[in-house]
Amino acid sequence: MVIFCRLKAFDTVACALTQLAAYTSRMRSTQKSLFPLVLVLLLATPALAQQVPAPEQYFGFKPGTDGELARYPKVLEYFQLLAKSTDRVKFEALGKTTMGNSYALLKISSPQNLARFDRLVEINHRLADPRTLSDAEAQKLAAEGKPFYLIYATIHSTEVSNGQAIIQIVYRLATENSPQIREILDNSVVLMVPSQNPDGQHLVIDHWYKTKGTNYNRVYPDLYHKYVGHDDNRDWFMFTQKETRLNVELVQNKYKPIITHDMHQKGPGESRIFVPPFTDPHDVNFHLAEGKEGVAWLENYDMWTPARQYMIYHGQPRILTEIAASNLADPYVNPRKGQPLGPQEARWNFPVPYSKDTWTLGQQVDYGIIVALAGMSHVAKYGREWLYNFYRVHRDWVNYGKGPYAFVVPAAQRDPYATYEMLDILEFGDVEIHKATAPFSANGKQYAAGSWVIKTAQPYGAFAKTMLEKQNYPDLRLFPGGPPEPPYDVTGHTLWMLMGVKVDAIDKPFDAPLELLKTVTPVAATAPSRPKGAYLVGPESYGTFKMVTELQKANVPVFRAAKAFELNGQKYAPGTYVIPPTAAAQKIVEKEAAEIGAPVSAVDRLPAVDGYKLKPNTKVGLWKGAGNMPGGWMMWILEQYGVNHEIVKSQDFQGDLNAKYDVILLPSGTSRARIVNGLDPKRNDPAEWSWAFGVGEEGWKKLRAFVENGGTLLAIGSAVETARELLDLPIEKALPEAAPRFGGAAAQQTAQQVPASAVDRALKDAFTSPANLMQVLRDRVAEPENLFYCPGSLLQNEFDPNHPIAWGMPEQWPVFFESDQAYRLRPGFGMEAAVASRYPRKDILQSGWLLGEEYLRDQANVLSFRVGKGYVVTYGSQIDFRAQPRATFKLLFNGIFHGPSTPVTAAQMGKVGTTTND
Ligand SMILES: [Zn+2]
Repeated sequence: MVIFCRLKAFDTVACALTQLAAYTSRMRSTQKSLFPLVLVLLLATPALAQQVPAPEQYFGFKPGTDGELARYPKVLEYFQLLAKSTDRVKFEALGKTTMGNSYALLKISSPQNLARFDRLVEINHRLADPRTLSDAEAQKLAAEGKPFYLIYATIHSTEVSNGQAIIQIVYRLATENSPQIREILDNSVVLMVPSQNPDGQHLVIDHWYKTKGTNYNRVYPDLYHKYVGHDDNRDWFMFTQKETRLNVELVQNKYKPIITHDMHQKGPGESRIFVPPFTDPHDVNFHLAEGKEGVAWLENYDMWTPARQYMIYHGQPRILTEIAASNLADPYVNPRKGQPLGPQEARWNFPVPYSKDTWTLGQQVDYGIIVALAGMSHVAKYGREWLYNFYRVHRDWVNYGKGPYAFVVPAAQRDPYATYEMLDILEFGDVEIHKATAPFSANGKQYAAGSWVIKTAQPYGAFAKTMLEKQNYPDLRLFPGGPPEPPYDVTGHTLWMLMGVKVDAIDKPFDAPLELLKTVTPVAATAPSRPKGAYLVGPESYGTFKMVTELQKANVPVFRAAKAFELNGQKYAPGTYVIPPTAAAQKIVEKEAAEIGAPVSAVDRLPAVDGYKLKPNTKVGLWKGAGNMPGGWMMWILEQYGVNHEIVKSQDFQGDLNAKYDVILLPSGTSRARIVNGLDPKRNDPAEWSWAFGVGEEGWKKLRAFVENGGTLLAIGSAVETARELLDLPIEKALPEAAPRFGGAAAQQTAQQVPASAVDRALKDAFTSPANLMQVLRDRVAEPENLFYCPGSLLQNEFDPNHPIAWGMPEQWPVFFESDQAYRLRPGFGMEAAVASRYPRKDILQSGWLLGEEYLRDQANVLSFRVGKGYVVTYGSQIDFRAQPRATFKLLFNGIFHGPSTPVTAAQMGKVGTTTND
């Protein structure tokens, strides 16, 4: 079964091919939405250019033929050939992907438009920043310009049909002379990204051919992007991955399209295609050009989080189309023979149900061609209106007069590196940032010179505002008094909470001496000259772990103070790094002070405090089960911070685990079954996949012995339950059983089964039979006193600053919580256990959505245990979720380095040992 495009950090989720988002509000009310266009679209007869081979000649089959998939490199070759043979297509290689493949862009339009391409881009930029434009000038530019229609086929690589459909689309645009194609070419510019994840095209399609004629699973069993797999469209505000950055920097920000069409596929049992409008909820920071209130639309995919829709905050609608998929290139036949596929109840937003029991690749390709050309035709027809409305959206943001007036980032921050990274993200998203040249006051508070000010009234104020404000997710229920209606994805994304930066929202205008920042740069600290005693570095910045890994690579010993201490009149927090001032240390400390801005002190005598010595070259084994997205993200995090690590392989269990690893890290999604069973050897070629096979009951026992013999085990999210089972940890779940039922993949399926009118359906089901009635009561009507629900929010935690895992954390800060668990320690147990963080007694929800807050009160989140000679940390909430909550990365890194460290006395602190060199 193909993994389709639906969400979350769960690995075996159905991906829905989603959003042909019409965003009709931008149209004049008399104009038609895209949806009817899709229905009435007729395909014109192609008139072929002589010298260009048709796709079927070039590839040896017509794209969309059952059992065949055109490979990505050959698709690019074909597009380059079209670019050479016609004057309607330009091909550009924009850069390399994560795995070194080519990321390409096609510019398609009439030769006349391509000849003045630079002028058209200039018009887009002028309309996107209306501060120097009158309305009349904007009208003139809208008439002169051409709307840019950006389309990217396949970001989710198992959704194969769109990557095949674009071959025909580009061929037709390059060669056909029908009125429809001519209109698109003459009146618009198509920007086509053939794949937003080229690596996945290679992995999935190569695997498909490699397994042909075998009994092996035809679907690529691991993540189809090296780090993030299906989460590759959850990265559109953090911009962590190369492909996201290429698109945002070299396509979105550079050319400023007026629309983005994002092509996806969903499960074979759903409707054949979804096109926008979306369903509720939508983020309030969207903008309607007409300003008409009360317009409503509907269907399945909501528009809440910027994690998958950068363009929405940059003056464009995101057109999402989700076409039903099959078994990659093989047809899908309904297991109930003769029964038609998909829902059969016609509704106003689903007028004609699909009537056959079979669904082929060729059909999917046809739907893809129709919907893409329909979108292009529409934009081409109303180009002037699209461009003018593009201007109006930006004009209204430039004149934005509602609160907040601005967000202020005070100059003095606990973590200068986090502050730099946060501002850098906003700048990458085209947000203007000002810096105060002198002190000022706002809303009765004094701010130092050097503080940053981000005004809401600017062209991309929508992006700044949604990233910097707290999210108040609406309390949506399946029916009044009923259980919560699951969001499509997560609900909280407040950037400063994720990063660990203090930001104030200021409602009313204020005066401050400001200069526009050209580039955000790190706030560099200066390292003092080499001392006699030690370098001391506070533990407050997550950036310090870049320094720790550098020091480890250079074999410089690193110590950490177990308690707070004072030296030379200065206070130091528990966990402060004490670094012997070797020549190698000096180089690294100087470099890191400049890059992460962490203040360094140089002291001539060592602090009189006990502490810990980090294990030289601490080695992490990352359990990255095949297809586990949290494991992929974790690999990315470990690489970014230079942590010495390796993926745990089933072969490792033939040797001594303790000799190989100091720490074994279980990301969320690592279940007992995944460890014991792993990938099925009968369905996966051992030559390639034996690393991911199960380790069996024998291996399970070996993992336990690894900890008892002195290893460190870290377990995150759902893996906490795995660790509890493995080691009989003295904890129990604190949240009611309802939590998993309404969370994650199960919740998404529930949501899919609920039709437009949830009340009607629930009643209808209930009255079909008494058994159904009981089922509906059990599934759909949660007892309110038993209801806990938190689908991806920021929740307050209290940290024990003396607990080694919480070193460097403030007393309170939000953690990310995505359908996770909280725990209580079971009393009267012999095992040594300590709580590093817990939920407070009140005001737990900081951003997003939370039902049943009372269940969290005073319950533990992060705990540590001594098991035999080993050390265990359980992180109940996903403190590393999609590499976004960086403020809580410290909890992870503290776990990695503290577990294997050894206690030292004050007399031993900061000394270069015999095993190290100067
Ligand atoms: Zn998808």
